Amino acid sequence: MSARFFSDTPLTLGAITLSGPEAHHLLHVMRAAVGAELTLFDGRGSEFPARITRLGRNDFECEVLAEERVDRERAAPLTLAVALPKGDRQKVLVEKLTELGVSRLVPLLTERSVADKSAGGLEKLRRLVIEASKQCGRNRLMEITQPLAWAEYVASAAAPLRVIAHPVDDSSEQLPPSVESIAAIGPEGGFSDSEVELAVKSGWQRVSLGPRILRIETAAIALAAKLI
Ligand code: SAH
Repeated sequence: MSARFFSDTPLTLGAITLSGPEAHHLLHVMRAAVGAELTLFDGRGSEFPARITRLGRNDFECEVLAEERVDRERAAPLTLAVALPKGDRQKVLVEKLTELGVSRLVPLLTERSVADKSAGGLEKLRRLVIEASKQCGRNRLMEITQPLAWAEYVASAAAPLRVIAHPVDDSSEQLPPSVESIAAIGPEGGFSDSEVELAVKSGWQRVSLGPRILRIETAAIALAAKLI
């Protein structure tokens, strides 16, 4: 796979100019030359072999040579609804869930959620999705929705499989592979009893991730991997 760059604007064959962080990466980190080949993607499911035709100070131009539909998505969509951890652990979460092919991340507001004042906001997280997609070869971006309150989300979320991760003693349940799924992970303080009860009443299934208590991002990564 040649070096991959993301375009905000939908790509078509022919000339295109890229600026912003992608141009910075190509010009100042990769130090690419005119004539070099690269791969572009715009998050809509294709990748585009291209050749650099001009290097500017803050932008560059290339010729898009072809459109190739290359699907590296899961067989069925997977949503992770997660009470986001803080700071750097949030970055790990977003990067790994992107690599694992999660379709959508819903930041959850729960009874025990802790507001993270250090968070750089959703836009920063969306930039991390692009960075991870460049690296792992995904041609569709993981969507990050606005934060949603658990009580609102739990009743309205629809999919053949909906699971809520909550430490329980028995852990023998089998999860069916390859169906559209939604999986919820609670905050460091855990989901409250009434939050778990609400989910179960709405038809969600409880899942355990083993006898140890995992941190939010570990639980999310483990569950996303289990649902592959
Ligand atoms: N303090 C809480 C644990 C919170 S861990 C308690 O003791 O119950 C943060 C979240 O990760 C949990 O809400 C749950 O969704 C998930 N999680 C962590 N470890 C888990 C496990 N062993 N099984 C199921 N879910 C787990």
